[in-house]
Amino acid sequence: MNIVDLRSDTVTKPTEAMREAMARAEVGDDVFGEDPTVRALEERVADLFGHQAALFTPTGSMANVLAVRTLAGPGREVLCESSAHIARAELGAHAAYTGITMRTWTDPRGQIDLPAIQGLFAPDMGPFFVPTAAISVENTHNFAGGAVLPLSDLQELREYADAQGAKVHLDGARIWNAHVATGVPLADYGRIADVLAVCLSKGLGAPVGSLLAGAQDAIDESRIWRKRMGGGMRQAGILAAAGLHALDHHLERLADDHTHARLLAEACGVDPATVDTNIVVWEHPAAARIVDRAAAEGVRVALVGPTTVRLVTHLDLDKADAERAATVLARLAGDGDRQ
Ligand SMILES: *Cc1c(COP(=O)(O)O)cnc(C)c1O
Repeated sequence: MNIVDLRSDTVTKPTEAMREAMARAEVGDDVFGEDPTVRALEERVADLFGHQAALFTPTGSMANVLAVRTLAGPGREVLCESSAHIARAELGAHAAYTGITMRTWTDPRGQIDLPAIQGLFAPDMGPFFVPTAAISVENTHNFAGGAVLPLSDLQELREYADAQGAKVHLDGARIWNAHVATGVPLADYGRIADVLAVCLSKGLGAPVGSLLAGAQDAIDESRIWRKRMGGGMRQAGILAAAGLHALDHHLERLADDHTHARLLAEACGVDPATVDTNIVVWEHPAAARIVDRAAAEGVRVALVGPTTVRLVTHLDLDKADAERAATVLARLAGDGDRQ
């Protein structure tokens, strides 16, 4: 049985063409700064977002930890939405490695709530309170179902942060999806952030790899910290080549993933208007049973809460797969509460 795997957009496998690009990659020792393919990828991503420099990392979590630590040091805090990946899904890395604390606002769609941020913001008042160093936002927002943050909200946040002398971090693991869904140029998203992190291993379909982008000094410093954390990689051009190939061939097609996600949403009775990009969050009282039954029919979906199923579309899913999954899930949606 052909399995349709909707658990995450990280499950994709490199295409033949991507494997060929990886096999052909020119490489060198990147810890010596001598891997031309890694350098090409770093320059390309820096340019795309209008930043001076970028750094290739094995994971998005490492890119976020390196990025945030350029903005906030020990005993300082970062404000973020309460279901942000940096707060929930990086296993306390920012506290463990950087010594920062976080305070959060909550928005069910992962959006920027400027009044809430203003209420949380702590200026430096001497050795009494933890001062806010930076505000972090996630676009698209993973646990809020791939929701896009509107550019105007990001720009307003930027203005507020500037007025306070605070920095802005963008977790752009899926910024590619936001760009394709809205048509907002990547450089406009780049401009609102002092430093941002992006993933190649989600919708873009690379097997490994993320980057952070920012000012030259922040990236130089991050290169040292990457090595310190054990993230200095040698002939990493093999991996960077997958990223370059993905940017050439897999960016515009994210629109197909978004179409497939809306198709699945409709099948599950989820309002497609709530599906901005490639993630569908489906609330159903029989969520656990739906996950098991779908799996038995070759459709793998993720249980992410007692009554919450998550579906993520990606490169390894074509229209026929999406339609088959939609048929199975539509049937289970109706059955679910019956037994
Ligand atoms: C996937 C993801 C990351 C990074 O994840 P890794 O698995 O460490 O590569 C960071 N932020 C968001 C929003 C993500 O979805």
